[in-house]
Amino acid sequence: MMLIRQINKIPFVKKRYFNSKLLTSTEIDNKSYIWCFFESHFGLHRKNFHYFHHLYTSYWDYSKEHGPDHWQEIWEFKNCQSPIDIIKQNIEYDNSLKPLELITKPIQINARNLGFNISFLADNFKSLVLCGGPLKYNYAFREMHFHWGEVHKGKCNLGCEHTFDGKRFAAELHVVHWNTDLYETDMQAMRSKDGLTVIGLLIDASDLYEQNKEFNFINETFRKVLYPNEHTIINISPYFLFPSCVQNYYTYSGSLTIPPLSENVTWVLFPDPIRISFNQLSDLSVTHSVEKNSQQKARHLSTEAGSTIITNNFRPIQPLNNRIVRSSFKNLI
Ligand SMILES: [Zn+2]
Repeated sequence: MMLIRQINKIPFVKKRYFNSKLLTSTEIDNKSYIWCFFESHFGLHRKNFHYFHHLYTSYWDYSKEHGPDHWQEIWEFKNCQSPIDIIKQNIEYDNSLKPLELITKPIQINARNLGFNISFLADNFKSLVLCGGPLKYNYAFREMHFHWGEVHKGKCNLGCEHTFDGKRFAAELHVVHWNTDLYETDMQAMRSKDGLTVIGLLIDASDLYEQNKEFNFINETFRKVLYPNEHTIINISPYFLFPSCVQNYYTYSGSLTIPPLSENVTWVLFPDPIRISFNQLSDLSVTHSVEKNSQQKARHLSTEAGSTIITNNFRPIQPLNNRIVRSSFKNLI
């Protein structure tokens, strides 16, 4: 029996799903699941089954038991993982790198508490197209999210994923896009060559910085989705926190930093962090990883025992191996 959580996103199962007659629901770990029973058996290629199985039934989180040190026991990967430490001395300037071309109009986005992060998912997966920069294809905006560390008693565990000469910032925004030239769906792109591109924006936080007015919108949205599966519709451009000049960036080939860790990501990282106040950073740690009124303690948090706050959701640095980080600009400080 297979437990299916997001059946609409699995094209090769969806067809059969609608032919099946018996549906029932059950509760596991205080969450509701729908079980479906298929009328007849059907063939599922082994490759598809592994993909399906890993993506939808394997549990992962950021704890010692199920965290990043254990992901490779479940998800296979080679030697192009992310995030990495970017060593400025080794960056190669590439004058063939063009400015990024992105459309900054507001679109409808569904912000949802996933229990380990807050996901800002596009309602229409083909509405905003990104091209230019290091990209050979057109990519459409799919989703954005943050990674951040725990703030406790006025001290912050820096939760950025990429580091620069070992320096870690407070948080990082990832804006994920999928290749619409080569693939029909975002899920197909997620597991295929040249399938994804992620733009990373570093976030610096300090008591000395003023409130970032744009970032207030993120804090407000987090407060509307305090518990898992709560969601809210917002209208924003996914690039509203980006610098006005998107000509200067670093780029390298890497992977998703969460399972399935697909090594098909063209990374684009802006060199300058945006600044937010320390209060705005600590306000990211307001959402919970378990349902309201649930007595269950969060398994996946490396914060204080018993806390259900979503925080410390970043993956450690991965080996660079033989990869090269290129820059579109010369004056590296
Ligand atoms: Zn990310």
